[in-house]
Amino acid sequence: TAPSTAERAPASAALLARARAVTPGGVNSPVRAFRSVGGTPRFMASGRGPTLTDVDGREYVDLVGSWGPMILGHAHPEVIAAVHDAAARGTSFGTPSENEVLLAEEIVERVAPVERVRLVSSGTEATMSAIRLARGFTGRPLVVKFAGHYHGHVDSLLVAAGSGVATLALPDSAGVPAEMAAETVVLPYNDVAALEAVFAARGEQVACVITEAAAGNMGVVPPDPGFTEALRRVTAEHGALLVSDEVMTGFRCSRAGWWGHEDLDVAPDLLTFGKVMGGGFPAAAFGGRADVMALLAPDGPVYQAGTLSGNPVATAAGLTTLRLCDDAVYSRLDEVSSTIREAASEALTKAGVPHRVQTASSMFSVFFRDGTVRDYDDARAQDTEAFARFFHAMLDAGVYLPPSAYECWFVSAAHDDAAVERVLAALPGAAAAAAG
Ligand code: PMP
Repeated sequence: TAPSTAERAPASAALLARARAVTPGGVNSPVRAFRSVGGTPRFMASGRGPTLTDVDGREYVDLVGSWGPMILGHAHPEVIAAVHDAAARGTSFGTPSENEVLLAEEIVERVAPVERVRLVSSGTEATMSAIRLARGFTGRPLVVKFAGHYHGHVDSLLVAAGSGVATLALPDSAGVPAEMAAETVVLPYNDVAALEAVFAARGEQVACVITEAAAGNMGVVPPDPGFTEALRRVTAEHGALLVSDEVMTGFRCSRAGWWGHEDLDVAPDLLTFGKVMGGGFPAAAFGGRADVMALLAPDGPVYQAGTLSGNPVATAAGLTTLRLCDDAVYSRLDEVSSTIREAASEALTKAGVPHRVQTASSMFSVFFRDGTVRDYDDARAQDTEAFARFFHAMLDAGVYLPPSAYECWFVSAAHDDAAVERVLAALPGAAAAAAG
């Protein structure tokens, strides 16, 4: 029997049955389906601060945060007020509007390597557009990516991808032509020798290297010290662009994202953003060097567009969220993150469960294995069954974790001491469940 039964969530189970009749798998994004952990996915009815409430009326402390965007918690009053105000003035114009300028200025001000930025509606669009631009700028075909990194469901980036592709243990995706996959070179993460070897052999053909600024889609795997510098050095030597995907890390790992957190004196050519900058609405962006961005239509020949790009409600939510993300927010994220991850590790240690907690600033995840995780092979060598038992024990205790061993746990500035206490109280029982 599934560890979490329909009896525990009858309203969710009923909605899932209806959803499955009209939507593949009953969900609009695969990881939501609980496939790797089993049981009934919870249909959420509302969110407030650090909690979500499902359609059966059960409340959970939320450690998913909509997979990253909800950095201020759910239904933050100032964000909601900005959304109301914007919506009352019209929900889409299909023309330029002031908030788009303000949001772009906020991004450019926070992230120094971004000289120009264009707004899109999802992280997938951001990475897809950045890659097209890199190919247009260099006139070269190949894209280098790292195994276990996820950059959205862009055809050429679904090779050896993390996130849901990892959760479902798919090697890649059907529907991507072999010729297209052949233009993507997949390397192990944190392996400078493999990078140098590929560039020595095919460097003249590489348009760009795309990397998660710090990987969060195979669990959290930060770049080794010096790895980002090596990416910069090798790409520059061969005239290829470096694209840093900050969709998950952007405006979360610091006010300037992972780039600001790692504090390097080397800059990527292009960066992609999403999640936090949309404040819970569909808003994302890509940006970087002015000379590269100048190739975009209407100024240049690389086409890119969107009916809802720069949407007035989404930009109001994103702008308000970013303006509220001050030093106090980032220090609260750090505090909540370290309290929870230390308690998780302590509980698992006491229960004798092999595990490894890894962090990238306040992002963290728990691998159910011993030893450092530096790449996708390491990440896959974990006990996903133990994770499933742990997940369901946490869920039953009122804590909503990502329903996959390959996803990051996200905290928010709305996680107050009471919410943190509820997580800490749930951990020993879940660790015992994981021990089996
Ligand atoms: N890049 C990264 C690093 C991501 O984490 C994600 C989403 N999890 C994406 C791109 C794709 O973003 P979206 O789901 O908005 O298309």
